[in-house]
Amino acid sequence: MTRKLAAGNWKMNGLMASLDELKTLVQSHGDVDTDVLICPPATLLTAARDIAGDKIAIGGQDCHAEAFGAHTGDISAEMIRDAGGTYVILGHSERREDHEETDENVRAKAKAALAAGLTVVICVGESLEEREAANTLDIIGGQLAGSIPDLVTGQTLVVAYEPIWAIGTGKTPTLDEIGEVHDFIRSRLERRFGAGVGRSTPILYGGSVKPGNAAEIFGVSNVDGALVGGASLKAEDFGPIIDALE
Ligand code: PEP
Repeated sequence: MTRKLAAGNWKMNGLMASLDELKTLVQSHGDVDTDVLICPPATLLTAARDIAGDKIAIGGQDCHAEAFGAHTGDISAEMIRDAGGTYVILGHSERREDHEETDENVRAKAKAALAAGLTVVICVGESLEEREAANTLDIIGGQLAGSIPDLVTGQTLVVAYEPIWAIGTGKTPTLDEIGEVHDFIRSRLERRFGAGVGRSTPILYGGSVKPGNAAEIFGVSNVDGALVGGASLKAEDFGPIIDALE
């Protein structure tokens, strides 16, 4: 069976005081069956790990493709691991846009992350123009092929489908549209990696997931959880999303 994962991406939000939200979440949802992941800014990784213990996984939001070196301002997968992280988000559309990251860049980062022992959450998603031009599946297929390295397993790979136009906008695709893309991703994973890896890789939906729409989204075929931005910042919002997955 595919494991379920509720992942929170705090993006560039969060100071030390924000970790009170993580404390609350550990108390309320530290013992649920679903896997729970919080990806705070890099400055909070160690402190978050200390609070989360083994109850909630901690991850980075990006990493460099090299393990160390002259790359001012970057952090490596090794550093995330050393700080207690076990996951890293890669290829988020904000990284692809703000830092012009290509599928090739994402794949190189993913290789480094896997070598450091991290599980990679690879993000894919179409723009509104691409959806309106009926190119969604072509775009997703290309991103999957280009961004995911060969050496992955169902334990070390998570795919997040995040339509760019749904991120932080309050808009979501219809349930049928989500199902079409998730079924497509599942079939591409099975075709490339075989049934074992293909069926055990969690496929998350991301884009304006809230307590009010989580349950219906989790009812869609091949949706194994969510990557949540805004609604992961407060335990009172993220908690009910985790509940909807249980
Ligand atoms: C995200 O950035 O990964 C995301 C899904 O954001 P939001 O939930 O705020 O739409």
